[in-house]
Amino acid sequence: MSSNQQYSFFQSVEKSFDKAAKFTKWDLGILEQIKACNSVYQMRFPVKRDDGSIEVIEAYRVQHSQHKSPCKGGIRFSDEVNQDEVMALASLMTYKCAIVNVPFGGGKGGIKINPRNYSTYELEKITRRYTAELVKKNFIGPGIDVPAPDYGTGPREMAWIVDTYASLKPGEIDAAGCVTGKPITQGGVRGRTEATGLGVFFGIREVCNMEDVMKKLGLSTGIQGKTVVVQGIGNVGYHSAKFFRENGAKVICISEHDGAVYNVNGLHEDELIAFRKQTGSIINAPGTTLLAKKEDALELECDILIPAALENVINGENAPRIKAKIIGEAANGPCTPEADEIFNQRGILCVPDMYLNAGGVTVSYFEWLKNLSHVRYGRMEKRFTENLNTHILGQIEGLTGKRVNDQERAFIMHGPDEQDLVHSGLEETMITATREIMEIWKENPAIPDMRTAAYVNAINKVATSYAELGIFP
Ligand code: GLU
Repeated sequence: MSSNQQYSFFQSVEKSFDKAAKFTKWDLGILEQIKACNSVYQMRFPVKRDDGSIEVIEAYRVQHSQHKSPCKGGIRFSDEVNQDEVMALASLMTYKCAIVNVPFGGGKGGIKINPRNYSTYELEKITRRYTAELVKKNFIGPGIDVPAPDYGTGPREMAWIVDTYASLKPGEIDAAGCVTGKPITQGGVRGRTEATGLGVFFGIREVCNMEDVMKKLGLSTGIQGKTVVVQGIGNVGYHSAKFFRENGAKVICISEHDGAVYNVNGLHEDELIAFRKQTGSIINAPGTTLLAKKEDALELECDILIPAALENVINGENAPRIKAKIIGEAANGPCTPEADEIFNQRGILCVPDMYLNAGGVTVSYFEWLKNLSHVRYGRMEKRFTENLNTHILGQIEGLTGKRVNDQERAFIMHGPDEQDLVHSGLEETMITATREIMEIWKENPAIPDMRTAAYVNAINKVATSYAELGIFP
């Protein structure tokens, strides 16, 4: 907890929850049960470093809610990991899944290491041992708890997890569903890598298409021409920047852990990544200006600010200086409750994490379904649809005596492949979630901000589920 913060991360989540609970009619006991983390597993295990020394690793898995099974949520590798943080992140997963109608409870894992300080072999040993510890305590499985990538982890770690799980559970036919975010060859789904960034884009695009909302902010509708600042160019920041740029926005600044680069005419995320590959940093990339401090990126004049790294970066101290009109929380918990109050007074729209970054878990859900059904999306219908479209087009051309141009022909005939279906399922999910939250906000104008409206939506769904389940005696 830094000095300018009054609350721990978990307390912040509880505070936002309580603020929203007032706008619901649920029994206090039900609300207390929803807020509580059901199971917290703290573990320590030894790892032998490459130099022969032995180090004790601290790690966690938290299952916040089992109102739906399995629990779901990523595993992060960071030296900031602590129990409070993992509990907060697990809680956010419960609310996130409820908002996007993904039938999972919330979970989260963390290993307290900075992955940059370990070799690939050491990381593999740590990941596999962590998985074995989860298996021992029944904290992982396709019907129990399903991890995924988070800050500091990716498909490589997920491949180690599924391999360890499958070897400890021989013959388990659904073993691939024990973790998501896997490489395609290990049961992953096409479209998972870019899912969170694409979801952020779909969510903000939907907000920007709402005339009344944009009018209040003094902005024109649409994404075209909007200026965007992205904090963090990890998987989520990179893909967010990419989709905003490809759809006509100008990404004027990207910041990283070692500095922030700026170009008023717009940056290209791929050029920065290519430059970083050569030099180890985005600093001094051609055509960019370095900001004095990386934190200055957050305070730049822009239409949309996308914090896409870690929690608590916008707080009571710097919120008064934020100049963005819209904040899109791609990270989990980037803005504190104090910041929310300030945004509210200043008329800044903060689009909250637990729905805006739900693209990752939404596509994880698609991956899990693929694993349980043992068939690739599109396999059964792609050819059928193409044959049907060919036939329909042939009939139209025959009857009209005209021929459709080649580009249109390719588009009309195309049967959906896995990536098409995943992107389309994600787009539908994000549009529906945005509209549901905005509807709740409009129906109750006393709700102060979009985060509270999102929480109201989540609480109502989770509480309904508890109420219908009944409480086990
Ligand atoms: N770590 C991501 C999140 O915070 C994805 C979780 C998942 O796919 O289960 O939402």
